[in-house]
Amino acid sequence: MHINEIFAADQTTVSFEFFPPKSQAESEALYANIALLEKLQPSFVSVTYGAGGSTRQLTHDLVVRLKQTTSLDPIPHLTCVCHNEQEVDDILTKYAQAGISNVLALGGDPPRDLPGYDRTQDAFHHAADLVGFVKRFNDGGTHPDPRGFGIGVAGFPEGHPSTPNRLDEMDFLKAKVDAGADYICTQLFFDNHDFYDFRERCELAGIHVPIIAGIMPITTLSGMKRMAQLALGARVPAKLLRALGRAGTDPEAVKRVGIHWATEQCRDLLDSQVRGIHFYTLNRSDATRQIYQNLGLADSLALRRTEGQAAV
Ligand SMILES: Cc1cc2nc3c(=O)[nH]c(=O)nc-3n(C[C@H](O)[C@H](O)[C@H](O)COP(=O)(O)OP(=O)(O)OC[C@H]3O[C@@H](n4cnc5c(N)ncnc54)[C@H](O)[C@@H]3O)c2cc1C
Repeated sequence: MHINEIFAADQTTVSFEFFPPKSQAESEALYANIALLEKLQPSFVSVTYGAGGSTRQLTHDLVVRLKQTTSLDPIPHLTCVCHNEQEVDDILTKYAQAGISNVLALGGDPPRDLPGYDRTQDAFHHAADLVGFVKRFNDGGTHPDPRGFGIGVAGFPEGHPSTPNRLDEMDFLKAKVDAGADYICTQLFFDNHDFYDFRERCELAGIHVPIIAGIMPITTLSGMKRMAQLALGARVPAKLLRALGRAGTDPEAVKRVGIHWATEQCRDLLDSQVRGIHFYTLNRSDATRQIYQNLGLADSLALRRTEGQAAV
């Protein structure tokens, strides 16, 4: 479903992010978790995109498999890095033919296996250029939906480390929206004040598209350290660090602290009329399902209802 229709139907969207599995065992675990998460009836799910050629094909395969074999509505991530125009055109054509309705257009992380990769070779230098290209593709009429792909872009409540100037950064974000983005999905954050301030700064910058909040429950200390490496700039607040410190080396206690923190973030975001919550699931289902239980929810529908339909 085009993302604008999803936002029209759902007062608050709920979505889950997966990454393509790299082995048979990872694949089996992911599909088992997807079967459990499907019961929560999310508004959509998204699939990340790597810099390497083989993992890129895995993104396509997972997206198409989700579309064909589940009730889920998959949104593929697509990046500028390591691509020319023809390649992006081919990918969009394949997704259009498979009935995929939306894409998340990103700058992309530099390839880890190509240190010093020269990004001037890429056809698109910033995500705004990629958004513009998807718009032009949409105008070409290849997509079965006359509106073409709905387009999402990334936002960084705590700022992106490559642009220390936070005023310039909002101009760059506005450029992505002006180029045709329909919504913003944020980097994960652990302090909701960062998200609320970002939302206000978007408003002041004249950015009025829906903003979805990225939430990642901490479930292990090693996962938290990996997250700090991948989600550069994300701050773990002192209160959360103290709670994790009290949990010590007990893995179950660490998980309980992380899930409790994420539950309270979600509760507060819902009270503050967040337009959507996007769970970085890390291909697992237990933390997300536990948060649902903590919030007293059987599935996403209770969150997604419009106010007029609210059962209170
Ligand atoms: C929700 C989400 C999903 C993600 N999924 C993936 C994924 O699947 N695969 C992946 O590789 N990475 C992914 N990332 C990471 C992301 O690709 C990187 O953080 C990347 O560095 C920034 O992406 P962007 O789309 O914001 O890029 P851009 O909008 O291009 O911004 C990149 C940097 O350039 C700056 N900039 C933008 N425009 C200009 C301009 N005109 N002049 C000068 N500077 C400018 C920005 O401020 C920013 O610092 C994801 C991030 C988020 C938040």
